[in-house]
Amino acid sequence: MRWALDEVRREGATVGLVPTMGYLHEGHLSLMAAARADTDFVMATIFVNPLQFAPGEDLASYPRDPDGDRAKAEAADVDLLFSPEHDEMYSDQVLTTVSVGGISQSMEGATRPTHFAGVATVVAKLFAIAGPCRAYFGEKDFQQLAVIRKMVADLSFPVEVIGCPIVREPDGLALSSRNAYLTPDQREAAPVLERALKAGAASVRAGERDPSAVCTLIGEIIAAEPEAELDYVALVDPATLEPPAGILEPGTYRLLTAARFGIPRLLDNIALEVPG
Ligand code: AMP
Repeated sequence: MRWALDEVRREGATVGLVPTMGYLHEGHLSLMAAARADTDFVMATIFVNPLQFAPGEDLASYPRDPDGDRAKAEAADVDLLFSPEHDEMYSDQVLTTVSVGGISQSMEGATRPTHFAGVATVVAKLFAIAGPCRAYFGEKDFQQLAVIRKMVADLSFPVEVIGCPIVREPDGLALSSRNAYLTPDQREAAPVLERALKAGAASVRAGERDPSAVCTLIGEIIAAEPEAELDYVALVDPATLEPPAGILEPGTYRLLTAARFGIPRLLDNIALEVPG
């Protein structure tokens, strides 16, 4: 595989990298399409990374469909699909990990304290394997995107990180491999996440400038849905993920939430523009 990459680079080709955990859906395929449009050689990866799952999380039951994924990647005109076995990625004893402080600790990091070190470590390995490239990540996992951008800046990886917009179902639910776990009632309830975030943004358009009032409104809408068990709502700076110190000043922010619907925990987020 390295040989194939060295070969294309010798020809002056640019490489587009799309890391995934498989069970591919239109969200993943949108990243592959962006990479296909921007770069000469598209490398997609499928690896359900054990380091980013805590004991008791859904590593063993994470949905998998290797044959379907291969067909979808081929249809997306991916040049190289890298789906390593566990032992190809990790030795018996992993002594080196990458952890990105601060930005990893709030929101997803508060609920899943070891998650982002697992993500950063596997993505660092994929960057080392792929070499200089453009790497495509979804805004669906907005905190992950910010963590990876920070890791790339701090460790000087020769990688340009590209964030791609969230692909949604017609009723607003963000596509996710974990949507496969939802019961029909949970599936029907799940679009409440985007609906609540949009209601928060609408309150700002109507003049609300208190971040905690915006978050409370969003949380109340989600909590009113019996199938949903709210985890967090946050209003943050899109680069640092820090909450604003006081009332909202004009600018761009991000609204994020996570809630459990039965077993699956679903994430969503939208941009928030505060007009001048
Ligand atoms: P995953 O397989 O869930 O680890 O996701 C692999 C990549 O696909 C990550 O960069 C995700 O943010 C991205 N992704 C997942 N769902 C979506 C979506 N609905 N829209 C856009 N990107 C997505």
